[in-house]
Amino acid sequence: MTDHYDVIVLGAGPAGYVAAIRCAQLGMKTACVEKWLNKNDKPALGGTCLNVGCIPSKALLEATELYHEAKHGFDDLGITCSDIKLDVPKMIARKDKIVSELTGGIEGLFKSNGIDWLVGAGTVIADKHVRVKAHDGSTTEHSADNIIIATGSVPIELPITPLHGDAVVDSTGALEWQSVPGKVCVIGAGIIGLELGSVWRRLGSEVVLLEAMDAFLPMVDAQIAKDAKRTFTKQGLDIQLSARVTGSTVKGDKVIVNYENSDGAQTMEVDKLIVAVGRKAYVHGVLTDEAGVELDERGLIHVNDSCETNVPGIYAIGDVVRGPMLAHKGSEEGVMVAELIAGETSSVNYDVMPNVIYTHPEVAWVGKTEEQLKADGVDYQAGTFPFAASGRAKAKGDTGGLVKILRDKSTDRMLGAHVIGPSASELLGQSVLAMEFDATIEDIAHTIHAHPTLSEAMHEAALSADGRAIHIANRKRR
Ligand code: FAD
Ligand code: NAD
Repeated sequence: MTDHYDVIVLGAGPAGYVAAIRCAQLGMKTACVEKWLNKNDKPALGGTCLNVGCIPSKALLEATELYHEAKHGFDDLGITCSDIKLDVPKMIARKDKIVSELTGGIEGLFKSNGIDWLVGAGTVIADKHVRVKAHDGSTTEHSADNIIIATGSVPIELPITPLHGDAVVDSTGALEWQSVPGKVCVIGAGIIGLELGSVWRRLGSEVVLLEAMDAFLPMVDAQIAKDAKRTFTKQGLDIQLSARVTGSTVKGDKVIVNYENSDGAQTMEVDKLIVAVGRKAYVHGVLTDEAGVELDERGLIHVNDSCETNVPGIYAIGDVVRGPMLAHKGSEEGVMVAELIAGETSSVNYDVMPNVIYTHPEVAWVGKTEEQLKADGVDYQAGTFPFAASGRAKAKGDTGGLVKILRDKSTDRMLGAHVIGPSASELLGQSVLAMEFDATIEDIAHTIHAHPTLSEAMHEAALSADGRAIHIANRKRR
């Protein structure tokens, strides 16, 4: 028998589960197909983000930051800690508990919203039918007026450095080590490399990041990226640019990494190797030829601005389509598609997309970088404010970094905001809101910020873009 739904969603990551919940809220009969098995072989919702991505990495980043602070930072505050002990298996178990609570929470939300979870792998076949293959091999078929594909992404594997047990791992494996390795090499100084490299560095590993490109974090405003590189290097992350990995071999309990830099061929012996060279869209087994859905030249599902594919009524969202591979980007697309299907007006403002690297200090940004504005020939002014001049940052003992605001000289509108510093991820929120509301620097100048807070740094940086910051010397007067 074929069950018929208003909407079938494939994949229950942050794109798919949010789309399913919004569809159900709007009164549509909704099913979501999800095949994920967690490390105990139990079906789980939440996708990459909740199971092996955003949440577990942040759980370990939080715990390791506190450990490092207690070990190296408390003394300055007049707190003497002795006998600080590390229990890595307990730290990993705490991370697993957070994951299972959150993924269980999504299951609860599915139940309360009346969403059918079809457990297994879904394939879109002809005429908006979906075949679901359960884990026991049995299959069922379902039809829908609309299909939303949200099958996400998987780590890119390098054939020259094949994964090997817990010695050569991708991001998922690097969240599972039960003891602190002596020396870790990370291929790729991108976001995953920096976040997971930081986790193990804080616990005491020697960490080397080999990055093929000659630029560090090229997507980040250059001033902020320069500050980040200096700070991370001081923390002991050995970031080597123009270093292209050419292969790896596991020898006993060591990994031999071969790479090339400007001095020629190099070899390094490490205890563990993390391959963090990006992610690719996951479409394996998702579509049959009869479904007629087109991919683009990069293997992503091709969609228009409304996330509709070339087949009317079939949509695709999240990591499996163009745009940054970010959980909140997928979720917003999920909401938009659900509302469009329900006949409402909806859109995603891709120009105001927050980005965060959850290192310490955090790096967060929205909008244009100074380099992009220069290339676009925009008449802009930059304003900066260092956390060293923030009373709250001083009180916290966390004064590294700065806020940078970019302002359109003719319209006074905020074009970009860039932060490296304490709680940058949370601070960025007000700039995202300002840009979404099309606020001017004048609006921000009139907004009262509580004292003493880190958010005053945002206020001051915005004022500094207009030459009227109070707590630093302005280069230009109004
Ligand atoms: P996914 O989360 O990948 O979910 C896709 C789901 O589809 C999976 O559950 C999969 O099992 C399922 N699926 C696939 N094929 C089928 C099929 N045929 N049938 C049924 N189900 C199927 N992003 C951030 O914004 N912030 C962060 O801090 C952050 N940290 C990250 C840390 C790490 C270590 C990693 C790896 C990623 C991180 N990301 C972060 C990226 C984020 O996880 C992804 O952008 C996000 O998960 C994409 O959501 P999605 O729903 O498109 O896909
Ligand atoms: P990335 O694209 O950020 O970085 C991969 C890096 O590996 C690149 O700098 C690339 O030049 C380098 N590289 C590729 N091949 C190499 C080689 N042979 N030798 C040396 N270097 C090589 O990808 P990622 O860090 O794997 O992250 C994947 C995705 O997950 C990103 O798109 C990101 O958006 C998302 N993510 C987001 C967050 C967050 O929002 N905080 C956290 C983790 C992951």
